[in-house]
Amino acid sequence: MSAITMRDLTKVYPNGVRALDALDLEIADGEFFALLGPSGCGKTTLLRTIAGLEVASGGDVHIGDRAVTNLPPGKRDVAMVFQDYALFPHMTVQENIAYPLRIKKMDRRGRAEKAAETADELGLSALLQRRPGQLSGGQQQRVALARAMACHPQVFLLDEPLSNLDARLRLEARTFLKRLQRELGVTTVFVTHDQAEALALADRIAVMEGGRIRQVGTPTEVFRRP
Ligand code: ADP
Ligand code: ADP
Repeated sequence: MSAITMRDLTKVYPNGVRALDALDLEIADGEFFALLGPSGCGKTTLLRTIAGLEVASGGDVHIGDRAVTNLPPGKRDVAMVFQDYALFPHMTVQENIAYPLRIKKMDRRGRAEKAAETADELGLSALLQRRPGQLSGGQQQRVALARAMACHPQVFLLDEPLSNLDARLRLEARTFLKRLQRELGVTTVFVTHDQAEALALADRIAVMEGGRIRQVGTPTEVFRRP
């Protein structure tokens, strides 16, 4: 079964920009899928529409066998990691990680346990009482991932989460993301404008242009020389 199915998906912003143009795409269960393309081609809009942060103007989105096109973000089994991580600066690492669990009304003790367990998986145990301002870029990125992972979403949406890291941390983060996919089997949709990143990470790549999918396939299929 497909994890995510998009049919005829269209997004026109109020200013008239057609960011998604009758797009069709299927992403398989457990796949690490990259959306690649130049700035402005619609990658972020597509991700935000899957997440429910943008309302589609037409077409539909299914997650698993559920039609989610008109469901708000909280009713979709997805978690999104933003480019700038969007951590809460006044909360500790533990509170940041536990935040989505609070939204889901998990009790205090359950939240603390889950946050500790997730922090442990991501090597953040020693940092639970710090605030984001006291962390390196790589550590902040891991907290953002931990916050997204804590509620075990079926689908993981990543918007260029590695672009603010230096080369060494980026490599570390790539290895780490692949391990998550292997061990947890989550479906990951990853936005990047970096071809090398897509090649290094993706099972399949969709190359976007002007709100449409120009090409989709494995890295070898997409980057094969004619
Ligand atoms: P990408 O992520 O590939 O850079 P975006 O999805 O951010 O592309 O943008 C696609 C197009 O939609 C661009 O032309 C962009 O300027 C426009 N756009 C994005 N967000 C908005 C918005 N909130 N309002 C109006 N236009 C937008
Ligand atoms: P990205 O390229 O990573 O998508 P952008 O810098 O294009 O990021 O956009 C940053 C923010 O500005 C996003 O929230 C996007 O929705 C919004 N945005 C982008 N283009 C426009 C636009 N033409 N009008 C209004 N908002 C926009």
